[in-house]
Formats: sequence, structure tokens, C-alpha cells
Amino acid sequence: MLTATDASIRFFIFCVIELNKYDDIIFGMKLYNTQSRALENFEPQAQTVRLYVCGVTPYDTTHLGHAATYCAFDVLIRFLEYKGAQVRYCQNVTDIDDDTIREAAKRGTTWKELGNFWTAHFMRDMIALNVRPPDYYPRATDTIAEIIEFDKTLIEKGFAYESGGSVYFHVDAYKNFGQLSHIPRADMLAVANERGNFPDDPKKRDPLDFVLWQAQAQGEPAWASPWGPGRPGWHIECSAMNYKTFGPTIDIHGGGADLVFPHHECEIAQTVNFTGEDYFARIWMHTAMVGYEGEKMSKSLGNLVMVSQLLPKYTPDAIRLYLAKHHYRVPWEFTYDDLDASVVQCTHLTQAAQAPGGDGRPMDYSYAQEKFENALDNDLDAPTAVGVLCELAGAIIEHADARLDVGAAQVWFRRAASILGLRLDAFGPEAHVRAGWEQHLNRFPVTGA
Ligand SMILES: [Zn+2]
Repeated sequence: MLTATDASIRFFIFCVIELNKYDDIIFGMKLYNTQSRALENFEPQAQTVRLYVCGVTPYDTTHLGHAATYCAFDVLIRFLEYKGAQVRYCQNVTDIDDDTIREAAKRGTTWKELGNFWTAHFMRDMIALNVRPPDYYPRATDTIAEIIEFDKTLIEKGFAYESGGSVYFHVDAYKNFGQLSHIPRADMLAVANERGNFPDDPKKRDPLDFVLWQAQAQGEPAWASPWGPGRPGWHIECSAMNYKTFGPTIDIHGGGADLVFPHHECEIAQTVNFTGEDYFARIWMHTAMVGYEGEKMSKSLGNLVMVSQLLPKYTPDAIRLYLAKHHYRVPWEFTYDDLDASVVQCTHLTQAAQAPGGDGRPMDYSYAQEKFENALDNDLDAPTAVGVLCELAGAIIEHADARLDVGAAQVWFRRAASILGLRLDAFGPEAHVRAGWEQHLNRFPVTGA
């Protein structure tokens, strides 16, 4: 016999299930997943999002391409938080790799001094641009023990082999290699060779095999390992820092589009074969490359536009608005004319935030709120969101001129602008942004250049 208590318990359980379903539906964000090559519904699990974004290799930071990547993820984080999710954000520093060792030698300094100098430089640019600091900011060299654990396990499981004091991942041992980048096997080697692979390394079984532990070369820094002194390979650093910070799986893994292959492809191969899980990141997000003067902005071409060059002439808001006007997945080209146009738009936005309204009826801004949220829900369409904000700015100014009450509209307008990282009439970055980065800065004492 069903008692009143049973019935009410059943009704309560039914409500909880229905409410949870509804919760899932109302989060409503879609993100493009590089791995599935499709827009996917993104629902935070337990309202917490574990986000890892590959950080800088500290020797040529911070050009506008770097800024575009970290500002895009900043908008993502701010929007997720606006929607009620909690974000745990990890960004790493690749402080030891071929590039930092080579550059340090070229500049007559050590990899550590070089790394601290440019990491601090990068952090100051991020503070200036009002980019929310990561909660975790590990250095590859703080993670050597975990990297060695990874390598040992991958050897034990038959995915890696030791050869002449180095350890390599054997690509042929993992049949799903290529699942992220979708590059045909025959084309992989050419792409890998452009991005740090040494196909002629005689210690490798296959030219596509990638290094997990690199035996010490003459004059190079080294750490002790079961295979002798050496240093970690680039890809294993991110797998190990991710695992140390978040455990076997994460929600979103991000980085520039040039990291899809081989870096992120190799990360998946290492991590899933170490953890035994069937996936590593639920969503892989990649930011498009920024061009300048007809070429991809890159150190080798010498066409870098540095954030520190722009900051004396442009406000952080003008740079943030300019970046937000480009969809994170669409390649674009930097021009000073376009940046100048953003300066004018920023003035307009600030005027709207400050326009003194009257005591007439309150202005309705709900249509703008809905359009703004829909835009960011749709694979973080910041350019559309910027358009909505600019339109709303015009409407606020008109309504204020007509002596209507624009107070509530301005409160939401400022909130929406802050999702794009804009400060409007406030001076300098948000206090928590400065404080968070400065905490990380303490671990990178600058002793030389
Ligand atoms: Zn990485």
C-alpha cells in the first residue's frame, strides 16, 4: 500500500530529476569541438568546468596572436561564470624545451632567467588587458616527477620504448592516433617536421615517433631519470601538468590552432594510454591564427605586433574590443585602421554607461540581453555580442536623451561589457585580476633578460 509519505518521496524524487533535466537544458551553450568537428552542447558537470589552455613558451611574448588566444578564453571563462558555472582554470608555462634552450644560448643567458623574464613580461601584458588569471600556473620543470611516472607507465603498457637514454612514444602502438587532427597518416610526418619533430633521429623506430624523455645533450640542462640524465619532451609536459592539476579527464582543452597537430594529438595519445580512460578532454577548442601584412604573425617571419607596443598608444579596452570583434575560430588580419575604429566604439560604449537618464519609465533592455546571451551561447560568437552591445549603447543614449530611466539598463550593460573584459570608465584592470597574476608573478623572480 502506498502511504502518503511514499507518495511525497516519489514526487520529490520526480521533481529533482525533472529539475536536473531542466538545469541541463537551460545552460544551453554550444561549443565547436575540434575532435568531433561539430558544435556540441556543453553542460558543466556539477557546475564546475575544468579548463586547461596551453600557455606560452616564454621567449617572444606577448604578440597579438597570443593576446587573441588568451582573451578568447577569458571571454569564455567570464561568460561561463556569468551563467553560474564555476571555472577551475589551468594555464602552463613551457619553461624548458628546444626553443627556450636555443634562445637562451643565443642571448647569453640561462633558460631559467630567460623564462622568468618573458613569463613576467607576459603576465604584465595579461594584467594590462584585464585577463582573468589562471587558478593554476604550473611550470613544466615543477612537474618532472609526474612526467617520469607517465613515461614509465607508457613503457610498461607497451606504448613507449627507451632508446639510448631517451624515451619515445611509438605511434604505431596506438591505433587512434589522428583522432583529433584528422590528418591522414601519410601527411602527418610533413606537418610534424614543421613543428619540432626530428624525423632523422637514429634512436627512433619510426620517424613519426615523438620524444617523451630526451637524453642530455652536451651543455643542456638535465634532470635525473631511470634512463639517465635528460629533460622532458614538449608534449608530455602538458599531459603531466594537466593530470597533476585535474586528474584523468578535463572538460575543455584549449590552445592556438597550430597546436592541434602534433602537440594536442600527442597529448591525447599520452594521457588516455596512461589513464586508461576513453577520453581526455570533452571539448577541444582552438583559436585561429592572426595575420599581419599578408602573412601569419610569427617570430620567424618577423611580423609580430607586440601588445607592449600597442599599450602606450591604445587603451586596453580598445585592444580587447578589437580582439572580441573577431570570432575565435576565424583567421583574421591585424590592421591599425581597424584598431583605430575600436577606439571610437569604446568612447561610444563609455558614453552609454555614463549617460544620465531621467525619471521617466524604465528602459526595456531584455531584447539586448537575450541577443547577447544567445550570441555567446552559440560557440562564443563575440563579434555578434559586440554588435549587440554597440546597438544597446546607442539605444541607452537615445533613451537617456529622452529623459527615460536607463539605470537598470546601464547596470546590465556594464555587466555585459565586463564579460568581454572591458572596463569602460574604470581605471586599470579589476583588482582580482591584478592580485591573482601578482601571486603567480612571485614565483618568477626576474634576475636578468
Ligand atoms: Zn600544451
